[in-house]
Amino acid sequence: MADNTEILRRRTFAIIAHPDAGKTSLTEKLLLFGGQIQVAGAVKSNKIKKTATSDWMEIEKQRGISVTTSVMEFDYRDYKINILDTPGHQDFAEDTYRTLTAVDSVIIVVDGAKGVETQTRKLMEVCRMRKTPVIIFVNKMDREGKDPFDLLDELEEELMIQVRPLSWPIEQGPRFKGVYNIYEQKLDLYQPSKQMVTEKVAVDIHTEELDKQIGKTLADKLRGDLELIEGVYPEFDVESYLAGDCAPVFFGSALNNFGVQELLNCFVEIAPSPRPVQAEEREVKPEEPKFTGFIFKITANIDPNHRSCVAFCKICSGKFVRNAPYQHVRHGKTMRFSSPTQFMAQRKTTIDEAYAGDIIGLPDNGTFKIGDTLTEGEMLHFRGLPSFSPEMFKYIENADPMKQKQLAKGIDQLMDEGVAQLFVNQFNGRKIIGTVGQLQFEVIQYRLLNEYNASCRWEPVSLYKACWVESDDPAELEAFKKRKYQYMAKDREGRDVFLADSGYVLQMAQMDFKHIKFHFTSEF
Ligand code: GDP
Repeated sequence: MADNTEILRRRTFAIIAHPDAGKTSLTEKLLLFGGQIQVAGAVKSNKIKKTATSDWMEIEKQRGISVTTSVMEFDYRDYKINILDTPGHQDFAEDTYRTLTAVDSVIIVVDGAKGVETQTRKLMEVCRMRKTPVIIFVNKMDREGKDPFDLLDELEEELMIQVRPLSWPIEQGPRFKGVYNIYEQKLDLYQPSKQMVTEKVAVDIHTEELDKQIGKTLADKLRGDLELIEGVYPEFDVESYLAGDCAPVFFGSALNNFGVQELLNCFVEIAPSPRPVQAEEREVKPEEPKFTGFIFKITANIDPNHRSCVAFCKICSGKFVRNAPYQHVRHGKTMRFSSPTQFMAQRKTTIDEAYAGDIIGLPDNGTFKIGDTLTEGEMLHFRGLPSFSPEMFKYIENADPMKQKQLAKGIDQLMDEGVAQLFVNQFNGRKIIGTVGQLQFEVIQYRLLNEYNASCRWEPVSLYKACWVESDDPAELEAFKKRKYQYMAKDREGRDVFLADSGYVLQMAQMDFKHIKFHFTSEF
């Protein structure tokens, strides 16, 4: 029987948040507890600063820098923690979606004053789809914010998940006194400090000790609140958390390092160790002895002199060993990796081995594309890497007739990297690039020129949505494709995509063709 200790002690997760909610501050405090950094302020935000669109080169540079902070790993108590970073800029939301395919759980940071914001809502959709367990951290309790009960209602409604508070704030803003840790039944009193871990006072809330600590009025209010919580919310149940049905909620202030260790302590205990991963052929269990993994993210090196990329591989099972022969399933080739890396705060180190749950960086110059599988020989294909219907569309045209080939190659490779999505209109053969934001178009144009020596031109195409269509009724599908022949395209996998030019057209199509399924993600 294999020793599973290494796997069971791993916690691989992502922190997701709307920009400015406090993701960077929270990450930093977690690293502080992991002993990875000694002082606060050491972690660079990978947030892309607000820049004019003309400044997208700066943006790519900032993105390039974030390679080193893409994965941060550290030990805490007996656990090995892998935090996967996600870009804050909404134009790179697809990057984040993909990262979510490589994690076993998620911590969502919500600004206590702003509540649930757009980006949070979208990312939660992905978590719901994948049944990823989530813990919610309500941040900035040192600021005046919403009433905590109202917040819980909002979380439940907007994120469409049951919630269960595991800590409870005592006042907020300037009057913020601390949190009562429901999970450990301890009172944590607040002392503003960026470095220090506050002393925990174990208080039985039913005794006068509580009144002594926070005064009678607040003590009575807290008892009332806790009673209400116990009355309204079902008892916390780890199983329903693990099933993605219920999200425990913590309150605190990341900036002041308050409530963070409570979160971390509970997280390591309840969050899942690496979970089984579904491949097309079968379910792969982390404790299987043989190595398997898939590429979920590729980050280009921004240095134009050497176009090297890092491919990020999530290990699904077994142990990865440096220089061992592994099968690149799509290419049918054996590969050895002499300098796989792991990431620690700002450092990157070559590693000799890594286990299921870990993320390793593999140097790549065009051999990988997103979704590629590595194994010890078995023909496995991991799925669960969805593409989402893009929100912006443009025709991409060649601006230099002498460089047709370079352009085609550049587009191909950038799409492999998952920079954007390509659809080919079956009616006129024109290529359409779909993105989630304007920025991506500029990044593509820049990279095509700098890395492939190809120039492109964008032309407007007025589209509302691209959706994948399929049907159990081949005749109806044919009829649909015939009727909409000007609006039919193929994605890179050769699947049928309907390009709807308005919401109305899409609605009509859905009504007229009842046996056709219109999918807004490619995973179905
Ligand atoms: P991100 O965009 O989610 O990574 O957010 P950051 O961690 O960069 O935080 C955004 C802003 O909110 C920064 O100015 C932080 O100093 C501030 N901030 C983060 N956490 C707190 C907190 O607990 N209280 C207060 N008052 N400000 C915070």
